[in-house]
Amino acid sequence: MNVQLRRCIGSERFGIEAHDAPISDFPAQPSQKDGLGRMCKPHWRQYTDALRKAALARKASQPDDAPKPTRAARAKPAKATPKRRSANATPAKAPRTAKQAAATVDTPSAGEG
Ligand SMILES: [Zn+2]
Repeated sequence: MNVQLRRCIGSERFGIEAHDAPISDFPAQPSQKDGLGRMCKPHWRQYTDALRKAALARKASQPDDAPKPTRAARAKPAKATPKRRSANATPAKAPRTAKQAAATVDTPSAGEG
């Protein structure tokens, strides 16, 4: 009895060697021309598993792929509004005598507009 063999193409990328396997070892794949998968079942599983892992690894290695909202939310726009200097502030901070202080208080500080 002759067992029909089919070529399992394997995957160079994932280190799966191509080989011949009995047709019964191939999964049905309607999208294929002959209705059979291009890899034997164990290799197909290995291949899809490797693909998934590769996709995950790629995602992990590219953090900039998706914007991180938490990061943006944490960065608050710091508004550094400089305090307006009081125009009425005393120009000199030298210690004054009570007499001088009284005189200063009496002085009208008009015209600051
Ligand atoms: Zn195989």
